[in-house]
Amino acid sequence: MRFTKTVLVSCLASALFLFGSAHAATVLQAAHGDEQELAPTGKGYGVPFAHPSAFAKSTGGAKTTNNGIVYHGGPVMLGTTNVYYIWYGNWSGNTAGTILTNLAQSMGGSPYFNINTTYYDGSNTHVSNAVNYVKATNDNYSLGTALGDADIQTIVSNAISSGALPKDTNAVYFVLTSADVNETSGFCTQYCGWHTHGSILGSDIKYSFIGNPDRCPSSCAAQTTSPNGNAGADGMASIISHELEEAVTDPDLNAWYDRRGQENADKCAWTFGTEYTVANGSKANMNLGGMDYLIQQNWVNAGGGYCALHL
Ligand SMILES: [Zn+2]
Repeated sequence: MRFTKTVLVSCLASALFLFGSAHAATVLQAAHGDEQELAPTGKGYGVPFAHPSAFAKSTGGAKTTNNGIVYHGGPVMLGTTNVYYIWYGNWSGNTAGTILTNLAQSMGGSPYFNINTTYYDGSNTHVSNAVNYVKATNDNYSLGTALGDADIQTIVSNAISSGALPKDTNAVYFVLTSADVNETSGFCTQYCGWHTHGSILGSDIKYSFIGNPDRCPSSCAAQTTSPNGNAGADGMASIISHELEEAVTDPDLNAWYDRRGQENADKCAWTFGTEYTVANGSKANMNLGGMDYLIQQNWVNAGGGYCALHL
């Protein structure tokens, strides 16, 4: 699959990732055997825990659910999760603004996002089906067109320190890049997006990189004719959904993931459930806020665990 990558395992050749993330995860599992548990990277595949002590500590709160995904003791995002967009690069004249703002405005309360309410923390407090799109800002190539992982955090930090966006610890900040922008740690070859967290201006901030699949439709877009006539933006809708549901259930990469290091959305990447055909002949599988989207399924943490479009 294509939602993976980055934090490479030193003992494994990068050639592994030529096969894509799902394969990488599979190979990692095979290479280390079924007894080795892996930690999530936020990019779709697991890596061995860096420190045995960290492993022991995190598994102290581990809880098996028999649903194919395990709780590792860390926080989930509770209450209403706020969403901020940072439009990086050149988005002028692009309908992505309409398509993806509507997505974020319509995600909360949807039957699709409701799947995340099957996840909870150590106090048995469940994730809420509540997402609030707050606002967006623009970044006119402040760090150029070739971004590294650290640059994404800098872009988020700059948006906050400048006052363009508030500092919000119950939020996910999405850096949305135009098609002329590369993320050099592996966009289009190892992943299409990723999420993580970091210390920004003294607070733990959750953020995500979302690349534009127009840069590499064969790797990061499910279809080239898309429900809203913008294959890049429609592809980003599924990637944003993927990273949002992972950020909510595994914000610090120490809560919900399986023994291969796969978070909830990783387990259903590139599966779309029941589809329908829209007027332009493309496929969709849900309508949110009056617009059709083709969005990947998510993992239900109940009933033994399974991929679904709604709950
Ligand atoms: Zn993922």
